[in-house]
Amino acid sequence: MSIELNVKEIHKKIQGKKCTLIAVSKTKPETAILSAYEAGQLDFGENKVQELLNKKQGLPQNIRWHLIGHLQRNKVKQVVGQAHLIHSVDSVRLLIQKQSEKNNLTSNLLLQVHIAEEDTKFGFSEAELDELLGSDLEKMNAIRIKGLMGMATFTEDREQVRKEFRNLKKLFEKYRESVRFENVVMEELSMGMSNDFELALEEGSTMIRVGSAIFGTRNY
Ligand SMILES: *Cc1c(COP(=O)(O)O)cnc(C)c1O
Repeated sequence: MSIELNVKEIHKKIQGKKCTLIAVSKTKPETAILSAYEAGQLDFGENKVQELLNKKQGLPQNIRWHLIGHLQRNKVKQVVGQAHLIHSVDSVRLLIQKQSEKNNLTSNLLLQVHIAEEDTKFGFSEAELDELLGSDLEKMNAIRIKGLMGMATFTEDREQVRKEFRNLKKLFEKYRESVRFENVVMEELSMGMSNDFELALEEGSTMIRVGSAIFGTRNY
C-alpha cells in the first residue's frame, strides 16, 4: 500500500471521533512526509530534536511538529518555540519553563505517564503526578499542560494493553476534573501506536502516534 492510502485509511478510522493522527516520520525522508502531506496529513511526530528541526526547515510551514521522544536536557533550548506540542515531558519541565519564559512564549506539553509493565520506559507514576499537579506546576506560567501521554507494554496480550490504556484514561479524567490551574488544560490523551491504535481509540485516545503502519517498517 502507498503512504497516501495508508493515511487516508487511518483518517477514515478516526472520522467523527475527537482524535488527531500524528504521523510518526522518524528516520523517514522528506519525500515520504510529503506523500502523507499530499493526502491531507498535517501533524507529524519525531523523536529527535535535531531531526525535527532539519525536517521542519525543508518542508511546508503549515506542518505541525510534535516531539514524541524523550527530551534530553541539553536539547531543550533548541526545541522550545519549534514544536507544536511536546508529548514526552518528565523531569525537563522546569528547564522548558525557563527557556520559554526567556523567549517570551508558552510551550504546550503533555506529561508522560508510566503505564507499561517494563521499567525501561520513561514517565511519571500516579503518585508523582498527584504531587506535580497538586502544587509545583501552578507557578510555571510559560508552560501549558495539555494532557497526558503514555506507551503501553510491548506485548501480544491485548487485554494487558487495554488495561493500561484504560488506567491512563482514568488518570486523565481524574486530573481533568480535579485540577484547577490556569496552565493545566486536560484536553489531549496521547496513546496508541501502529500495533494498538484501534484499541487506544476504543479507550478514548485523542491523539494516536502512528509510524510504521503509514510509512512501512523502519531500518535503524
Ligand atoms: C516510534 C514511536 C511511535 C510510532 O511507532 P510505530 O509502532 O511505528 O507506529 C509512537 N510513539 C513513540 C513515542 C515512538 O517513539
